Amino acid sequence: MKILSVNAGSSSLKFQLYEMPEEKVLISGVFERIGIDGSLYTIKIDGEKFRKVVPLPNHAEAFRLLTEELLERKIVDDLSEIQGVGHRIVQGADLYDKSIVIDEEVLKNIEDLSPLAPLHNPAHAVGIKAAMEAIPNALQVAVFDTSFHQTMKPSEYLYALPYEWYEDYKVRRYGFHGTSHKYVSMKMNEILERNDTKLITCHIGNGGSISAVLNGKCINTSMGFTPAAGLIMGSRAGDIDSTIIPYVMDKTGMSINDINNVLNKKSGVLAISGISSDFRDIEDAAIAGNERSILACEMYANRVVDYIAKYYVQLGGCDAIVFTAGVGENSPFMRKLIIDKLAVLGIKLDEEANNERGKINKISAEDSSSLVYVIPTDEEVMIARDVLSLL
Ligand code: AMP
Repeated sequence: MKILSVNAGSSSLKFQLYEMPEEKVLISGVFERIGIDGSLYTIKIDGEKFRKVVPLPNHAEAFRLLTEELLERKIVDDLSEIQGVGHRIVQGADLYDKSIVIDEEVLKNIEDLSPLAPLHNPAHAVGIKAAMEAIPNALQVAVFDTSFHQTMKPSEYLYALPYEWYEDYKVRRYGFHGTSHKYVSMKMNEILERNDTKLITCHIGNGGSISAVLNGKCINTSMGFTPAAGLIMGSRAGDIDSTIIPYVMDKTGMSINDINNVLNKKSGVLAISGISSDFRDIEDAAIAGNERSILACEMYANRVVDYIAKYYVQLGGCDAIVFTAGVGENSPFMRKLIIDKLAVLGIKLDEEANNERGKINKISAEDSSSLVYVIPTDEEVMIARDVLSLL
């Protein structure tokens, strides 16, 4: 059975088509710059990559081209072979603690939650409508970034703000990257061959979050009401004293939109290094002795360590720390900076293993008090699995 996994962003559409239940990727790709000049798409089949520059006025056109490619390349003889389409949805708030078949009500809820995820949910809704039109016979399923974190208790998800803000406006912590935290924690439990585990999962990429996972369930996570909270990120500030906002608005005359833009797009390691939001550039500069890049790496690692230490205490110990996503999977430099700061807990790195790449890898030393693993994440396969189970 064929299942399509879709991640629609405001100007992009990523997809993977699976043969299930084998979990074999038949074709994957990304449509970029949708609605912007210079749009193009890239597809990958059997390790070969194809790139086409085409006008992409909207997501519907991207879906039309995708279905055309599937038919032309004989990946499917008929679109009805695709029995399910799974959509990554960033914000499901407290409405969904698991994936769900999309009907009119679910689609409306996703749209209604847009104020809580203005960059993501409107694009997801557009993607869903385009998929429904292009592949009308398929079961459409929503897979929420927030679902995995719905097991947090009120003591963890509430802010110490007026209670009516929670009751009337849904102001609370939701957490994100849930599909990834769930995937790597399941993988880690498979490796440990048990589910009664205390795990700290670090999804650190351009965006980043850390979760505390007890017996397979999330008990805390670093992102909050939006994905702007918690860790320092590529261009996001993470946790700050909220009073800075009215103070700087008063000083500069900036609007709330201007401030929001700075907090999301002009802060993080980009702001501190003054060089880039990409950790590869910052690491290179830090290694070459650039002072502000050294500072950015230090601040970044310290914030990660703050959360690991907090969750270590909350979990009452830790069987394994898992690194995943762009930085977590690919940066031995950042992993070492982080793990070396955990020496007081008896957590130790195997430096040689830390320098290996591209696979599930144990990187803790034999005498480390907790295991440390690198596990490449796979949110797309989790989406396909959820669609399969709902089918
Ligand atoms: P993600 O958001 O998970 O796709 O992660 C993307 C980010 O991972 C990039 O912006 C880089 O900052 C970072 N990254 C990717 N490869 C490397 C690498 N080899 N070393 C350091 N950082 C990396």
